[in-house]
Amino acid sequence: MPTIFSQIVDGDIPARVVHEDETTFAFLDANPLAPGHTLVIPKADHGRLNDIPVEEAADLYATIHRLIPAVEAAVDADATTVAFNNGEAAGQEVPHVHCHIVPRFEGDGGGPIHAIAGETPDLADDELDDIADAIGDRV
Ligand code: AMP
Repeated sequence: MPTIFSQIVDGDIPARVVHEDETTFAFLDANPLAPGHTLVIPKADHGRLNDIPVEEAADLYATIHRLIPAVEAAVDADATTVAFNNGEAAGQEVPHVHCHIVPRFEGDGGGPIHAIAGETPDLADDELDDIADAIGDRV
């Protein structure tokens, strides 16, 4: 069963499309957090960021890179929050990779990306060392 975003790419579900090329696609979010809230996706149906082959990931970033200034200029934004909910536990509802470009305005009352944390952990130095090693060993 294709995801709702694949159905948008195929033209089976309407959307306000702002960009399309060979491998990527972008359209306005149907429930915008701000005017100009845009979603950028790979056309291929990949669930999470690391499911995307590296060449397609480069294409996706290139489209994000191109769209950020276009979105900001279109709605006269002061900045943008650019983020992926990567996996269900992180709040990803549509299982097709998508980058949110959310225009931000001085005094808009929104928070920084740090606002995603529930309770922040109090980690000792040796725990931080272990975590850094565990990540480094897996890169
Ligand atoms: P996420 O929680 O990161 O999976 O975000 C999914 C986003 O997709 C939400 O911001 C929705 O508003 C948006 N969305 C869901 N269905 C559609 C649709 N048919 N057209 C445009 N945006 C959609």
